[in-house]
Amino acid sequence: MRKNIIAGNWKMNKTLAEATQFVAEVKNKIPATDQVEAIVCAPFPYLASLVEQAKGSNVKISAQNMHFEDNGAFTGEVSPVMLKDIGVSHVVLGHSERREYFAETDETVNKKAHAAFNHGLTPIICVGETLEQREANETKSLVGEQVRKALEGLSKDQVTQSIIAYEPIWAIGTGKTASSEDANEVCAHIRQVVKELTDAATAEAVIIQYGGSVKPSNVDELLAQSDIDGALVGGASLEADSFLQLVEAGA
Ligand code: 13P
Repeated sequence: MRKNIIAGNWKMNKTLAEATQFVAEVKNKIPATDQVEAIVCAPFPYLASLVEQAKGSNVKISAQNMHFEDNGAFTGEVSPVMLKDIGVSHVVLGHSERREYFAETDETVNKKAHAAFNHGLTPIICVGETLEQREANETKSLVGEQVRKALEGLSKDQVTQSIIAYEPIWAIGTGKTASSEDANEVCAHIRQVVKELTDAATAEAVIIQYGGSVKPSNVDELLAQSDIDGALVGGASLEADSFLQLVEAGA
């Protein structure tokens, strides 16, 4: 039985005071059950202090990106070594906004996934199609290819530990959610691709989240689907109350 992982992706939002306030509000209210895991994906400047603040609670702190090199002349970049050093546990890789605005590719996502595991970080690997690709009936082939490339060369054990987030780009920040059946169909396809790459046990174990306009009013229906194991949430994760409702829905 897979657990649900609810990850709040704040994107480029919040001041330090707001971030601190949020973690203070949620940290003692996460249900103490193995059925759900709560992750906050915060901007780089806040990670170290949020990790300290969340110690001893059930909130995990994730970065939203990183470089794949350990160190060196990469001005403006943050490495997996640094994230591990400050106690971050997860890192979002290949979010569609990074693919669109910051030239992230399947190849760099794959390098970053390897780098994450080399340094004991859990990757949350994002995949998803544009509206044109959906309308052209390319969703499954496109998403399948993104998953294959992202996971290339990882061991079965590493694939088992990975979190894959299916986020149709047209559903991000638009208020349009994929119907729970459509979202589940793609998540089931991703699981099938993982099975082809590894084996049935790995595919059965890997966590596959849905993301794209998830909110307290639609989360139950999404989580009730057979192949959706949680959510990667943008807008509705910015308020502590709403984030807690999402986490409770996963418990
Ligand atoms: P929204 O929940 O705001 O649609 O964002 C989804 C997302 O991109 C999470 O990574």
